[in-house]
Amino acid sequence: MSEIQRHSYDVVVIGAGGAGLRAAIEARQQGKKTAIISKSLFGKAHTVMAEGGAAAAMGNVNAKDNWQVHFRDTIRGGKFLNNPRMAELHAKESPDRIWELELWGALFDRTKDGTISQRNFGGHEYPRLAHVGDRTGLELIRTLQQRVVQLQQADAAELGDPEAMLKVYAETTITELVKDGGAEGRIAGAFGYVRETGDLVLFETPAVVLATGGIGKSFTVTSNSWEYTGDGHALALRAGAGLVNMEFIQFHPTGMVWPPSVKGILVTESVRGDGGVLRNSDGKRFMFDYVPDVFRTQYAETEEEADGWYEDPANNRRPPELLPRDEVARAINSEVKEGRGSPHGGVFLDIASRMPAVEIMRRLPSMHHQFKELADVDITAEPMEVGPTCHYVMGGVEVDADTGASLVPGLFAAGEVSGGMHGSNRLGGNSLSDLLVFGRRCGLGAAAYIDGLGDDRPVPDADVVARAAEESVAPLERTDGESPYAVHQALQTMMNELVGIIRRGPEVAQAIEDLDKLRPRVERVRATGGRAYNPGWHLAVDLRNMLVVSEAIARCALEREESRGGHTREDFPGMDPEWRKTNLITRLVDGGVALKRQPLDSLRPDLLALFERTELAKYLTEDELPAEDGADA
Ligand code: FAD
Repeated sequence: MSEIQRHSYDVVVIGAGGAGLRAAIEARQQGKKTAIISKSLFGKAHTVMAEGGAAAAMGNVNAKDNWQVHFRDTIRGGKFLNNPRMAELHAKESPDRIWELELWGALFDRTKDGTISQRNFGGHEYPRLAHVGDRTGLELIRTLQQRVVQLQQADAAELGDPEAMLKVYAETTITELVKDGGAEGRIAGAFGYVRETGDLVLFETPAVVLATGGIGKSFTVTSNSWEYTGDGHALALRAGAGLVNMEFIQFHPTGMVWPPSVKGILVTESVRGDGGVLRNSDGKRFMFDYVPDVFRTQYAETEEEADGWYEDPANNRRPPELLPRDEVARAINSEVKEGRGSPHGGVFLDIASRMPAVEIMRRLPSMHHQFKELADVDITAEPMEVGPTCHYVMGGVEVDADTGASLVPGLFAAGEVSGGMHGSNRLGGNSLSDLLVFGRRCGLGAAAYIDGLGDDRPVPDADVVARAAEESVAPLERTDGESPYAVHQALQTMMNELVGIIRRGPEVAQAIEDLDKLRPRVERVRATGGRAYNPGWHLAVDLRNMLVVSEAIARCALEREESRGGHTREDFPGMDPEWRKTNLITRLVDGGVALKRQPLDSLRPDLLALFERTELAKYLTEDELPAEDGADA
């Protein structure tokens, strides 16, 4: 076994997207020596790909907006399954996090009177997304990276070394978390390898912040890029933490469907937010046929009213194209299934007939470029073909809302890898604000945890380190075994077909059996070649994570016998108020995924009062409803 590089830090943040960078900045600002580790190049996280914007109730475009309305929209979007404390903190703190970004140099698009402009998005009652054209994530990451450099420059001036207190380890993959040998099982380090050289590396640290993003690569059709293999979810499980509600996967309604090489790439919701409409092969705006009862009073019933909303939202209701994503994705799925799809198995998204070309170019430059380059379609002149794509995971590490702490001492999580905030369905734009709010809180939480340790720092268990090293290089040392690419393809196809957008009990049960059969194949994958930049080896290591995360998804999807948000059971088509009170927690017990039902915290009376009783009655059980006269039951 080759030598293991060793580094020592107060806080190790795994992931350099918005959540990871914001957590690391906070930890460093609290005086903690912090490492940021990223599997991909620094700057190339999913956050950079975010297009539409960051949701924050600043009230710049409509003064009626405030945190309470944002909270209500978030809870409605999540179908009342959100962790209420997280949704409250998020709605309250998002504006401050956006203004803070401006202090650090971000430049958002402006309103006519010079304030930060805000755009419409599905499920948000008022224009709420702070944005930079359709490249908001790029500005967010650029600004956070700039802040990292600013802090490093301060350290260079004061300590003579820019990396003395905050250092980035790019292209470094963490494969295992290491605990101390004590009864409490505290975090003591993070183990991994350097992609460029294949060198093994141990970061000794009492506090790890997971900020590893999503799981999309377990599905064939996805907007996610190569590194989203659910590593953080799997690391948390193996360390002893719980995952909450892994059945909720967001299939974004609009991904590209053609050509095959780009299938799944995202078409931003801003197209619809800015006036784009969905049509089927008959040219019909079909979303009017798919407004569910729970949203009926909030959405327009005619095209005239829907179109009037863009100019006069006070006197018109919202277009049904702006229903929450789960509703739109299911509607597209139904149209295609019933033979009214586009030539390549999607539906049409039309912005060309809705505004002048010059305006489309101003508002959606990246979308124009994407379709021209990848599909030879000019979106200023013809409609796009779009269909659902696996986009986001609502489920994730179960954390304390205020600090981001998981059940494992020293392990924190923020951003897409954490769970609870978005309930059963995330509203667009709520992720970028989530990253900033809970990234910061995690940085503070980790710093406070370390302060509480005093001199009692955990020491990595040497046996665990040795085992992690052996496991990580095992695929390279096997003399026979299967290609990781073949196993990956089998896993993706199976998950897409059996645990995808529409689920049926027997098919999900079949998926669990298939995953059982895939396990020995994953354990025997063989990577050929050396250690330096060997993608076959990297995939072989990641497969272990995809397998366990897929099992968590499938087991939860089988257990939850209702349809809600990003979990649609054809055999249980309605929402069940009893299930609304229930979180599904997965943990690893004796190496296997075990499932437990756990009650969800109820909404505080003042938060419950933000909703009409008639609306609450659609979601809550009788005993949860406030009394008829408005007094609390
Ligand atoms: P990410 O930004 O995904 O970063 C994860 C980091 O973890 C990366 O640096 C990765 O390399 C690293 N990592 C992963 N595994 C390991 C490992 N084992 N070891 C070391 N490092 C690891 N949301 C919005 O709110 N508004 C939008 O407009 C929007 N548009 C989107 C457009 C696209 C195309 C996509 C894909 C997503 C979009 N989203 C949007 C969702 C949002 O971008 C993501 O949910 C969010 O950026 C996730 O941020 P994060 O910080 O949690 O993780």
